[in-house]
Order: sequence, then C-alpha cells, then structure tokens
Amino acid sequence: MVPAVSWRRLGAAAVAVALSLELVYRFMRRRRRPVREVLFFPAPLLCSEPLLSPEKQCACPLPHRTDGPMSQLLRRLLGARRSLEVCIFTFSSPPLARAVLLLHGRGVRVRVITDSDYMAAAGSQIGELRKAGVEVRHNQHSGFMHHKFAVLDQRIVMTGSMNWTMQAIQTNQENLLITDDSACVRAYLEEFERLWEEYNPTSYCFFPKKAEEGP
Ligand SMILES: [Zn+2]
Repeated sequence: MVPAVSWRRLGAAAVAVALSLELVYRFMRRRRRPVREVLFFPAPLLCSEPLLSPEKQCACPLPHRTDGPMSQLLRRLLGARRSLEVCIFTFSSPPLARAVLLLHGRGVRVRVITDSDYMAAAGSQIGELRKAGVEVRHNQHSGFMHHKFAVLDQRIVMTGSMNWTMQAIQTNQENLLITDDSACVRAYLEEFERLWEEYNPTSYCFFPKKAEEGP
C-alpha cells in the first residue's frame, strides 16, 4: 500500500507539472509571431488536392504545386481548429467549399452568412454546405449582404475585395488581408454576431404582403 504522504507528494507533483505546462502554453501564446499577410489575386490555376486530400495521389493535368496566394489562403483556412465564421457575398468556389466542408467534418463549428440573391445562382456552393449540415443564414431585405470576410478560431480575420468564386480567384484583381490584430478580429466578430442575429430564420418573412394588397 502507498503511504498517505506519498499520495500527497504525488498530488503536489501533478499540480506543479500542470502549472508549468500552463505557464509554457501562455509563454508560447505570447511569443507567437503576429499574423500580417496580404494576398493579391488572380492566382495561377493549380490543383488544390495536395492541400485538400494530401493522402491521395491526384492524376489531374493541373500543376500540383502548393505555392501562390490560393494555396496560402487554403492553408490558412484549413488551419482553423475550433470555429470558422464566413461572411461572403458570393460563394461558388469548389476548392474553398471543400475546405469549409473538411473543417465541418473535423468538428470545427462553421457558420456562414451570405446574400439571398446570389446563394441560388448557378454554381453556388451554399446548397452543398447546407446539405452537409453547415449552418447558413442570409439577408432578407433589399441591399446586398456585400461583406467578404472570414474569422478563424476567433483569432484571425481575412478580409478584402474577393468573393469566394473561381472568377475572383483566377481572373480578377483582388486583395485579401489576413491579420490577428485583436481589435480588428473583435470588430469583425461583433459584426458577424450582429448579422447572425438579424438574419435569424425565425424572423424570415417568406411571403411579404405588398403595400397595395388589401386584407
Ligand atoms: Zn490534381
């Protein structure tokens, strides 16, 4: 039988180890290099499979390099571990939808806000996301939901001119700023939460009465 004093020592040692780990974790967090990236598009057309399913050997004719702004964007996105808020006017890029679905499948809490006029447009990925169980909300009134930003793990925000479309990625001149500046991240998260509540489906009005219609 282990004497009582040994149990006490063991307990004290366990507490000391836990405290040291906590201190190391806090130290590492403070030492983490700040995230300040600016990506410019259009990006060269590359296969995204090396990043989306690295375990498979892809035989498609596209280059399988993992450099360039699209790869950087995908890498950042796939780095999310706990939460992802996407607030995007038009979402029709299959590789970006794959990345969002991968995160959803890993248990990352994903929420998407988009524009009601564009979510049903040809090629939109919103239906696929919904089918997979991703929570999606949209605007209900006139005026576009024209934002283009995403927040990762409540720590990093990516924002700029770019819609999540193949046209934007491969053809347009677009910019994307990625930062972990806490004031910026907080502001974008607050805006997301504000819209998330405003677009709560319980307040959707599916068949609004026209003003001239009688009772
Ligand atoms: Zn390929």
